[in-house]
Formats: sequence, C-alpha cells, structure tokens
Amino acid sequence: MSESAPSSACFDLLVVGSGAAGLTGALTAAIGGAKVLVVEKTALIGGTTAMSGGGIWIACNHLMDAVGVPDSREDALAYLRACTGGQGDDTHLEALVDEGAAMISFLEREAGILFNAWTPQGGMIDYRPWLEGARHGGRTLEPAGFSLARLGKWADRLRKDPRLRSAHDLNAYYRERKHLLPPSALTAMKPPPDDCDTYWRGPALVAWLLEACLTRGVEVWTDTTAKALAMDAGRIIGLRVEREGRVEHIAAPDVLMATGGYANNAELKRLWLTRSLQYTCEIEANQGDGHLMGQTVGAQMAGMGDAWWLPHIPLGLEGGLANIAGTREDRILPHTLMVNSNGRRFMNEATNYYDCGEKFGAMTGAGPRDFPAWFLFDQQGVERYMLLSLKIPKGPRPDWLHRGSTLAELASSIGVAAENLDETIARFNGFARSGVDRDFHRGENPWDRAWGDPANLPNPSLGTLEKSPFYALPVYTGANSTRGGLRIDAHGRVLSSADGAPIAGLHAAGNCSNGAPAGAYCGAGATLGPAMTFGYIIGQRVAAGLKIAA
Ligand SMILES: Cc1cc2nc3c(=O)[nH]c(=O)nc-3n(C[C@H](O)[C@H](O)[C@H](O)COP(=O)(O)OP(=O)(O)OC[C@H]3O[C@@H](n4cnc5c(N)ncnc54)[C@H](O)[C@@H]3O)c2cc1C
Repeated sequence: MSESAPSSACFDLLVVGSGAAGLTGALTAAIGGAKVLVVEKTALIGGTTAMSGGGIWIACNHLMDAVGVPDSREDALAYLRACTGGQGDDTHLEALVDEGAAMISFLEREAGILFNAWTPQGGMIDYRPWLEGARHGGRTLEPAGFSLARLGKWADRLRKDPRLRSAHDLNAYYRERKHLLPPSALTAMKPPPDDCDTYWRGPALVAWLLEACLTRGVEVWTDTTAKALAMDAGRIIGLRVEREGRVEHIAAPDVLMATGGYANNAELKRLWLTRSLQYTCEIEANQGDGHLMGQTVGAQMAGMGDAWWLPHIPLGLEGGLANIAGTREDRILPHTLMVNSNGRRFMNEATNYYDCGEKFGAMTGAGPRDFPAWFLFDQQGVERYMLLSLKIPKGPRPDWLHRGSTLAELASSIGVAAENLDETIARFNGFARSGVDRDFHRGENPWDRAWGDPANLPNPSLGTLEKSPFYALPVYTGANSTRGGLRIDAHGRVLSSADGAPIAGLHAAGNCSNGAPAGAYCGAGATLGPAMTFGYIIGQRVAAGLKIAA
C-alpha cells in the first residue's frame, strides 16, 4: 500500500459512512456553510439504511396533525422513559424529543425532502402500546417515493433493494393491511413496469439525502475506507483513509463517525453481544470499524451487548429461493405458533420483533435457550392468508420447509418429540377456541390486536392448527443490526474514557453510538429516528462552530 502526501483538500467535517446518520449530519453541516466530505467503504452509497423500510420514528413531529394524532413533549418523554425503564442516558431522550421534530422540519424546509406520517391504522402503532404516552400512528414518518432519474449518474451508485421499486406507494401495505389478504390477492399484485424508476422507503430516504448533499457541494468518496483517526494534543485533526490502493491523510477539525453496527464482525459479535445472533440484514461492510477507531483514541463505550433484534426465518419469495428474512406479522396471524426443540411454546409469538430478543436465549457462554425454534402453521392459515401461502414456494419442496400430513409426521421431520408437539397443539387449539391464551396471553395486548385479523373471533391472533397438511419453518436469532458503541452526550460528542469529557472534534451517530433509547425499540423507525436526529444535532453544532470562528 503506497502512502500519499497529506491531502491538500481541506474540509470542515469528515463523515465516515453514508447511511442515514452520516448523510443527515453531512447535509445539515453543509446547509450551515461547512465544507463536508463523506467517505464510504463500499462502492455504493446508503449503507443498511438503503436496504431498510425507511421508517423514521419522531415524536411530536409536525406531520402528526395531518393524520389526526396529537402528541405532546410530556407524553413522548413519558413513553420513552417507560420504554427504557431508567436504562441509558435520559438527556438523550430529551434531545431526541426536542430536536427530532426540528430535524424533520429542517430537512423539509431547507432541502425539500418530503415525508408522510403513518395513519392510525392496523400495525402502524408504537411497539409497546400498553405503556404510558404511546401512540397509534403519527410518530413514524416515511419519505415520499423518489424517481432515480433525478440523481443522474449518481443513481447507479445508490444501494437499493429491487423489492422497493414500485409505481405505487408501498405504505399501502400497512394502510390496507395486506398481510391479511387472501392468497387470491396475489394474482392482483403485478411487478412494476420496467421503466418505473421510483423507489420507496430506505433507498428513497438515501436518495433524497444524497441529492440534497450533492446540491450543497458535499463530496462523497466511495470505495474509501476510514482506517484511523488523527489526533494532535488531544483533539481530532483528521482521518487516515485507504482509497484506490493508497493511504491518504485528510485534515479536518471534526469527524462524524457513522459506520453502523458490527453484526458482520464474528469476533466482536462473540465478544460484545450478550445473546447469540445468527442472521443479520446489516450490510456486510459494517464490521465495527468506527467502534474500534473510537476506542483507539480513548472513547468510552456504552449500550453494548444489545442488538435491534428481529427473528429470521426462510421466506419463500423470489421464485422459491431460500431467502432468510426478518419475521414480524406472520407470527401474529391466526393458525400459527412457535415451539422450541422440545415441542413446547416458550413465548407470546406475536411479540414485537425487538422484544423477541429476550426470548432468544441465555447470556454469552450458554447456548441459546429456545433457538433454533420452529414456526408452525396449518392448511387453514395457508388458505386464509397470502403471507402464509407465500411461505410455500412453487416447485420442489426446499429443505427448509417441513411438511407433514399429520402432526406426528411433522414432529418426526423436525426432530421433536411427537407426544410433546401433540400436547402443545391440543392445548393451543383450546386457547384458540376460547380466545384466551392462558400461557402467554397472545392477542391480549394492543400490538397483537392491531396486527391481528379483526374478522378472526374470539381472538384476532389465535386460530387452531388442525387442518392437514401441517408446515414448519426454522426460526433463527437475528437482528437488523447491532446497537451501542461510542458513548455520546446529548450534543453527539464522543466522551473520553479518561475523564468523561468530550474528545474534541469527535462525534458519532447511528448504530456505532449509544444515541438511541436504551433497551427499547419504541416504534417503527426507532433506529433511523435517533440516527438522523443525532446526525442533525452534530451537523448544526459543526456549522455553529464555524460561525463562531469566522
Ligand atoms: C430490511 C430492513 C428493514 C429495516 N427497516 C427499518 C425501518 O423501517 N426503520 C428503522 O428505523 N430501521 C430500519 N432498519 C434498520 C436500519 O436500516 C439501520 O438501523 C440504520 O440504517 C442504521 O443507520 P446507520 O447510518 O447507523 O448505518 P448504515 O446505514 O449501515 O451506514 C453505515 C455505513 O458506514 C459504512 N462504513 C462502515 N465502516 C466504514 C469505514 N471504515 N469507512 C467508511 N465507511 C464505512 C458502511 O459501508 C455503511 O454504508 C431496517 C433494516 C433492514 C435491513
């Protein structure tokens, strides 16, 4: 690797990582007059953000009125405090409530980015809706669809999930509760025309931010890996990067670390996580680089051990290819349940995906308690719900899909004791008929009911498993990404482990930091909301610093 002379380019802010945290910080600082460079390790811009649902959880945002959901600072803080239960840093919660809404207004006003608030329907509900201050709808925002033609030659450099290309607003899935539609609805679903270049959700969010960054003169270098922070007399003076086979030193007084989580670093996962994590949908490049660079210059770490948990199961989409994916609403549908390898239920299967993490198993050192588990459903479910019928790919049965004409046959196929499975299902069927899950209370809380089938009585989430054939899919531990990392204060400044003071010039946001409310996934968008809010806070601070210096 050859070493270049220090780069002559001079920047006010270096941003490491081009996900939502990094691009929001870059854009905000640039709007405030800063000269900004974003360095991105991969050839594509957008990180895990560009593969995501693009939901952004922002309490008290100004778009809530339009969907008839009022909010208040008091309710938002009460909910966040109830969610975190005293964990983490309370000043972060106040910063998120006070600055989150300002961030959205700023992006709309200054950069023309369009957002819509989720309506109070079905599953568009806070994830722990039984807690004080929770809301149904409103707090989750989605970016409007984005036509890639607007990006010109940059369109090819945007990371994107082809499933998020659509001629229609993908939010209709939630509004129209499409997971409850019968399988016949499948025939009405047509792929977008070839000339449709509109993306929604995560890629749309990145595209909006990228377009605004480019317009404001932000430089974006792809295939550029940040390797180390440069320090002088206890403060940041720049960054060492690798680019096109060369090492470069770039000078700047401020660095925003926004490198995402470390779910693809097997060693860090083993050492830092408190539970087993088998699958992640975090992009491959996210390996904890920012965590390690920060530690090297003495940063404190906080919020470690946790992830944005999301159990994963194979999904029979994409022409029957095995496609490991997160599971949410399928576990809430009637005619489904989950058992462990003993053939016993171990949780309320309808639980929101983050809280499933608690059921994933014991602490490091002990094997996962109940995983891999089995997701079971019967022919009634397949006939009633498109989502379950999709789990059975056309063509030869894949290895991961187990089927039995009797429960005993299914039990033998998945290697669990037939008498246990029989007993479990007989008991579960009794609960389905009475409408009361006496073991795990499935279908009793507002989350389960919001996602469940209101036409399914007496309990929208409970239905018997009694019609052959019976099906089983393995369930693995999984997560959107890890969370926790560089400890930041309410201004996004990384704190030193030596004295607790900010490391001058070092900032962090998103999944490489501890900025999100600890121990909670407060609602859809709970990762992107804090990532963007802290990106915004940092960008504002950097820009304000320039004005003071001028
Ligand atoms: C299918 C799916 C759906 C999701 N839906 C939602 C949702 O609706 N709402 C929500 O809030 N969350 C959602 N998430 C989670 C969300 O995508 C992430 O939590 C979020 O994108 C993290 O943002 P970030 O900016 O911290 O990291 P990222 O978006 O992952 O960006 C980090 C970037 O840093 C780069 N990088 C890493 N190391 C270096 C280095 N050394 N030098 C330079 N660059 C580096 C990476 O290449 C990457 O581009 C979803 C995730 C998935 C996969």
